[in-house]
Amino acid sequence: MKKIRIDGALSRRQWMGITASGLATGMVPFAGWADSRTSSTTTTRQTSTAALAVTGISGKKVVVVGAGMAGMTVSKYLRLWGGKGLEVTLVEPDLLYTSSIMSNLVLNGSRNITGLQFSRDALTKQYGVIRKSGTVAAVNPGAKTVTLSDGSSLPYDRLVLAPGVSFDDAYGLTQQDYDTRTPHAWRGGDQTTLLRQQITAMQDRDVFVMTIPKAPYRCPPGPYERACVVADHLKTTGHSNSQVVVLDENPFVQAERHTFETAFSGLHANVIRYIPNVTGLQIDPVTRAVTYVDASGGTQIVNAKVVNPIVPHRAAGSESGGWLAQAGLANSADGRWAMVNVLSYESTASGATGIHVIGDASSCGMPKAGHVANQEAKICADAIVRLMTGQQPDPQPVANSACYSPITASSASWLTAVYQYDPADKRMKVASNGGQTVINGVAATPTEAASVSQENFKDMGTWFTTLMKDVSA
Ligand SMILES: Cc1cc2nc3c(=O)[nH]c(=O)nc-3n(C[C@H](O)[C@H](O)[C@H](O)COP(=O)(O)OP(=O)(O)OC[C@H]3O[C@@H](n4cnc5c(N)ncnc54)[C@H](O)[C@@H]3O)c2cc1C
Repeated sequence: MKKIRIDGALSRRQWMGITASGLATGMVPFAGWADSRTSSTTTTRQTSTAALAVTGISGKKVVVVGAGMAGMTVSKYLRLWGGKGLEVTLVEPDLLYTSSIMSNLVLNGSRNITGLQFSRDALTKQYGVIRKSGTVAAVNPGAKTVTLSDGSSLPYDRLVLAPGVSFDDAYGLTQQDYDTRTPHAWRGGDQTTLLRQQITAMQDRDVFVMTIPKAPYRCPPGPYERACVVADHLKTTGHSNSQVVVLDENPFVQAERHTFETAFSGLHANVIRYIPNVTGLQIDPVTRAVTYVDASGGTQIVNAKVVNPIVPHRAAGSESGGWLAQAGLANSADGRWAMVNVLSYESTASGATGIHVIGDASSCGMPKAGHVANQEAKICADAIVRLMTGQQPDPQPVANSACYSPITASSASWLTAVYQYDPADKRMKVASNGGQTVINGVAATPTEAASVSQENFKDMGTWFTTLMKDVSA
């Protein structure tokens, strides 16, 4: 699980950057639209209580699309650092945010999905963010507006897109299959609950099959962590003869390799069967037969009781005909992600001046994780405030990330890294303690916990609470 250094050097430096420019802070009451309790496109208004910076920005509008980890953070910090003259409108269809982080612990009953739901009310009440219930259906870069699915439109001076990911119809499965019988559960919510029910109904000797798409995908350690949590749950509920078959389209474990390889070959060796380099996946949603081609070219079939296909995903809206694709913003070589200038998260697509993309939807060199989405959001908010006050974005952004990975219901590991801007590649890269991205010709790598422990598990809870407070409170 990823964690972020919430009040670390980056935040302080950003504040210092603003005050050094002659900007002061003060208590600013603000009348802004607050939350709607309906699913229709409505807005309401509240007063902010937080100390907003006094920046001299006046009459500027930022529209933020998607109130997830990235969108909530950027909205809050744009108000906090930009001040009352920077109007922020946050567009999101769902009333509550359901965290994907920690959702693997719903699968073993340690947590429940309602405990992972977060209100967005503080964004309105404390920071004066205008919230609009709705779904963006089009971006019009020329007119500087976004169109919502109800046909209404919102004007912006700058637009921040944070829509997360959407999931491909893959391996012979459809969105309806994911919702009703073969859940990917790769976004916290009803599918997580469905998968929990399916796991609970497993009997001894039943087989659980999960698939992992080719990187990049959301939360690199997440699938391996899920395999461990499910294996532990099966063992501790009297199903030690069951199997967890992990079909990985990648050649090896993509994060915390030492931790997971140790767990797969040690603690969970009797239950987990890890198979890398898998191709040709096909899943029958009715019989739950999973067909794949192994590394030696042989076709294999596994008959599963539960199938959990973590299918390939992409920036939400980048599907053929999708709103992000239509606006030309899904500009990675494979058309799946939004390429950005990582000093500001402004899109590099032509004609996209003033449009920023953050969180899992963007491609920046850092992993797709909630912890990282929160960091990207702060770098983006800082850059927008600087640009609106006649400055340039910070030329040397630094971000940090850490993972906690439950290995059993009470123990966890961790992984941490500091990322810094590499001017040569114009990407964020892992840096060592000394700040080098390459040491003796070898790229710096994240640091993994030496061992799995209960203390790490406790720290994980503290980290998650702190992160969610920074994002939404
Ligand atoms: C099982 C699992 C475990 C994980 N564990 C961790 C962890 O331990 N640590 C970690 O750091 N990360 C973890 N992650 C990853 C993390 O959840 C994501 O990286 C993070 O949520 C990405 O944030 P985001 O804001 O980009 O997207 P999201 O949080 O998904 O938010 C996107 C929002 O945009 C909204 N939206 C989409 N389209 C539109 C539209 N057209 N108009 C308006 N709104 C729209 C959606 O409704 C949603 O609210 C985990 C993920 C999973 C699946």
